[in-house]
Amino acid sequence: MSRKPLIIDCHGHYTTAPQALADWRDRQIAGIQDPAQRPSPSDLRIGDDDLRESIEKNQLRLMRERGSDLTIFSPRASFMAHHIGDFQVSSTWAAICNELCHRVATLFPDEFVMAAMLPQSPGVDPATCIPELEKCVEEYGAVGINLNPDPSGGHWTAPPLSDRSWYPIYEKMVEYDIPAMIHVSTSCNACFHTTGAHYLNADTTAFMQCLTSDLFKDFPTLRFVIPHGGGAAPYHWGRFRGLAQALNKPLLDEHLLNNVFFDTCVYHQPGIDLLTRVIPVKNVLFASEMIGAVRGIDPETGHHFDDTKRYIEAAATLSDADRFQIYEGNARRVYPRLDAALKAKGL
Ligand SMILES: [Zn+2]
Repeated sequence: MSRKPLIIDCHGHYTTAPQALADWRDRQIAGIQDPAQRPSPSDLRIGDDDLRESIEKNQLRLMRERGSDLTIFSPRASFMAHHIGDFQVSSTWAAICNELCHRVATLFPDEFVMAAMLPQSPGVDPATCIPELEKCVEEYGAVGINLNPDPSGGHWTAPPLSDRSWYPIYEKMVEYDIPAMIHVSTSCNACFHTTGAHYLNADTTAFMQCLTSDLFKDFPTLRFVIPHGGGAAPYHWGRFRGLAQALNKPLLDEHLLNNVFFDTCVYHQPGIDLLTRVIPVKNVLFASEMIGAVRGIDPETGHHFDDTKRYIEAAATLSDADRFQIYEGNARRVYPRLDAALKAKGL
């Protein structure tokens, strides 16, 4: 491939939404005790100019500075907070957050495409999420979803991802040919820091749930993106290969790597070097998760930790063809609806 790749960042959240959104959410949470006090969705008024400003000054500015072209953009992960309230609370909140991401993607059609959060709620059948999922794909053009394997927020009360209660979501994903990023939200368990422990634990846990199950025999085309570089999975690849062997599972290449993908939200060079040496390039998707959990500048490099393109550029074992896959090719394969949208634009 001789042309320059499109730089597709598969992991962006609307972390910079106008303050009115958080204020509305605070009122919604306060209203849980007294539903009559709950705000109406129509009480939230955020104009297009406010949306534009919140993006232009932040994500879009950094995309231009760092040289990325397109971001798959979903609601702020830590704000999903599925553990708060009941299904109705989650449902209203998910609808609002998804609509805002849809509006951003409509205002900036060349730079943003949306992925949806789901109105999950602890103890509630995941199938209840399907109407919101359908709306986001069919009306909002969502190319993927974020699926929370632990709606309890760090207490892990839901069954593993291989449980049949999740299957209605997977059937819908297969029907639409969309992947899920497996993404938890805020931890309400004091043992687990949200972005430092809960996120990485969940990435590792989700990977192991896939490993111990035969989920992808039931759904050969189901695709999961495990974010944050796959948690501990790439670093401990030998352990996982050995466990698969001990459990009489096929080799991981065959057992998981047609279905499981890792992003590049690993915020230092040695981590990316390890990821791209251990995991086949076809399973690695470029992502930064900016402006997210780690917003500072690395004193060792003078660059932002989440400026992940620099690490891909500097990874010594990658060829230009590998980089093309990581930046563009893999994302177009894992997100066929994104590929179709790009093709429709002649890209
Ligand atoms: Zn994220």
